[in-house]
Amino acid sequence: MHEHAHGRRHIETMIRNRDLEGLLHQAHTLHGHLCPFVGLGVKAGQYAMAALNRRNTGMEEVVAIVECNNCFTDGIQMVTGCTFGNNALIFRDLGKTAVTVARREDGMAVRLIVRPDYRPKMLARYPNAAPLFEKIVVERQGTPEERHRFHHLFEAISRRELQTPLEDQFQIQSLHITMPAYAPIFESLLCSVCGEQMMASRAVQQQEQTLCRVCAGGQVPVLNGQGIGQECF
Ligand SMILES: [Zn+2]
Ligand SMILES: [Zn+2]
Repeated sequence: MHEHAHGRRHIETMIRNRDLEGLLHQAHTLHGHLCPFVGLGVKAGQYAMAALNRRNTGMEEVVAIVECNNCFTDGIQMVTGCTFGNNALIFRDLGKTAVTVARREDGMAVRLIVRPDYRPKMLARYPNAAPLFEKIVVERQGTPEERHRFHHLFEAISRRELQTPLEDQFQIQSLHITMPAYAPIFESLLCSVCGEQMMASRAVQQQEQTLCRVCAGGQVPVLNGQGIGQECF
């Protein structure tokens, strides 16, 4: 019998070899830019996956529970292989830059949370970075030249910060968790108004009609930059 699911073999090799540069490069392709927090996600993911020593084929054998939706989360998705699409990424809307990575067979887990003093200490190491960040990311201002400079600076910082000791960046806990149940497989239903197909779990029964949430009116849960909320119609 040959082995399947080799899609992540190169990632596994990089995890084993602690090839943080290589993993950061992978995360870059997902995230679209390099920034210190995607680098932190890469490092947390590498540490956790090496500690758990478990192959992840995207079948929920490893689960990552993230507590934020920011750049960090993309580093986690890329390195752990726990993604929004394969249901192994669980989002707890706490606004903490933290992740718990756990393996299914025994619930062995590692939680890493960024130390509160890490960001100010990091920015103090690169005095040019904070004012540029403020102007370009926070205020969404800046000339094309400044944006270009910012881009290069943040790439350089992201690479440099790979060298910072993990303990200076994170508080790390080993723990055991109760594993979340496997994601259920739902049957599909058709909305009797728009005719679109949906998971049965999201269908709304109204006056003996099966409706999608949009056609039923009311509220649709959304996850966006604000966190988890309700979209109103
Ligand atoms: Zn980013
Ligand atoms: Zn509909």
